[in-house]
Amino acid sequence: MPDGFVADMVLLDGKIVTIDGAFSITQAVAIKDGRFLAVGKDRDIQPLIGKHTRVFSLSGKTVVPGFVDSHIHMRWTGLNLNKINLRGISSIDGILEAIEEKVLHTPEDQWVQGFGWDEGYFREKRYPTRWDLDKVSGEHPVHLARAYGHIETVNSKVLKMAGITRSTPEPAGGKILRDFKTGEPSGVLSGQGALKLIEKILSYPSLKEQKEVIRAITRKFSAAGITSVCDGWCYPQDFRIFQEIKEAGDLTVRICGMVKVDAGVKPLKDCLADIEGWGPYTGFGDHMLKIGGIKLVLDGGIGGKTALTRTPYADDSANFGLQVIPTSELIEICKLAARNNWQVGVHCCGGRAVDLTLEAYQEAHTEKSIKNRRWVLIHAYEPNERTFAACRRLGIVVAAQPVFMHLMGHSFLSGWGRKRASCACPLKGWLSQKIHIGGGSDSPMTTYEPLVGIWAAVNRRVELTGMQLGGEQCIPVREALRMFTKESAYLTFDEDTKGSIEPGKLADLVVLGEDILSIPKMSIRDVPILMTVMDGRIVYEDKAVL
Ligand SMILES: [Zn+2]
Repeated sequence: MPDGFVADMVLLDGKIVTIDGAFSITQAVAIKDGRFLAVGKDRDIQPLIGKHTRVFSLSGKTVVPGFVDSHIHMRWTGLNLNKINLRGISSIDGILEAIEEKVLHTPEDQWVQGFGWDEGYFREKRYPTRWDLDKVSGEHPVHLARAYGHIETVNSKVLKMAGITRSTPEPAGGKILRDFKTGEPSGVLSGQGALKLIEKILSYPSLKEQKEVIRAITRKFSAAGITSVCDGWCYPQDFRIFQEIKEAGDLTVRICGMVKVDAGVKPLKDCLADIEGWGPYTGFGDHMLKIGGIKLVLDGGIGGKTALTRTPYADDSANFGLQVIPTSELIEICKLAARNNWQVGVHCCGGRAVDLTLEAYQEAHTEKSIKNRRWVLIHAYEPNERTFAACRRLGIVVAAQPVFMHLMGHSFLSGWGRKRASCACPLKGWLSQKIHIGGGSDSPMTTYEPLVGIWAAVNRRVELTGMQLGGEQCIPVREALRMFTKESAYLTFDEDTKGSIEPGKLADLVVLGEDILSIPKMSIRDVPILMTVMDGRIVYEDKAVL
């Protein structure tokens, strides 16, 4: 047989969920030179086996395309590997215990950092303050990021280092939370503008350390079945790190990096100059590493009640959330991005933020068409009929994270009340409007495991209470699978090369321990990942099983 028809790797006797146009399910697949060579029955694939072909017999196990996360933060997720994980801790005392332990083993003046606290889980139902943290720290700067970002608590030492005092004015695009009576900063900082105040003094890892972190996290992504990510917050230095790892041949996950423009916290002229300064634009790169869209952050999140909403928060009637970028600046930036052929993605959680984003997209469109540029709404919890119409008209796509309804369901309920919360993140709504939605995690805001995201899209169960929230927005497993593969690939213009198991496409796949399409829906998150193949290479393998 000519060499061109001999496979490098063959998987036989499986249940191959191809996610092709017809959602075909077949038995076997052959891989050659990093691409799928053929897909079909065992008898179709067996003739492609040669002397050097690696053959796996799957005994009926399920295979799906490699998962694609449409919105994730690699560096932050990696950096968290070295911080205290405060997720799920049920009291401020519990937080203090964790810090005390870490302080004991950390030299004085070195940073103690944690992430993932959520006051919704605390007995005390309030944010931890610097007065809490000071009880167990003094000589160590302590920095604790709330789950889902946007809010951070620091101790007195950090406030002092950053020069934040009672007389520090409120920053644009953020809030320094204060003692009601004395006006003293409480150590809680909310919104990008306030977080920027401590950014400069935060311990920042060296390039070498960052590289290690990215290597470590990509290995974890591979173990979770992820073969591609769209990183939603990259500066030029990130691309350098990615490129160095790629050139060393160590990249196990394909990366599309969005270019972060610090609008709202940096003067407009500097933001415009940043965009003008980029030579290559969206699409530059190759199948392993490429440049995505420009990333902007317009509002905050639901947890800290900083998502910019059309109507106020249920338990805070004067609060409509936070607008980080003035509307006129958002429009200017979008116009320049359109002129320079960029895709744009805006973090817009609340309904008002969604409306303003679409207004800016429309303004940009009148100057230069964005119709085929797949501009993105990131998060977009509260779309309405006008949103749907604008998305269809302008070809706008959505990066959705179903796992938010699971981990933050309690915040949606307290912030928006039951009726409104049930309609948040309406996956079924987007799908019925035929709008492309890519699945993702926004890790480290949530967990990066795609199976948890798929589980959440299908079940919509709130972690804290176990209740189902907005059951009418649950979607079928096959739709959730499509979201986390082909649809996410669509968001980065990769649907012709990724997201399904079809001849000619990049050989990215995952072998699952159970049949995700037929097991009880509540078990989906527990399905083991047995093997991940990226670019025809095995990048993760559970050796005990395969
Ligand atoms: Zn994000």
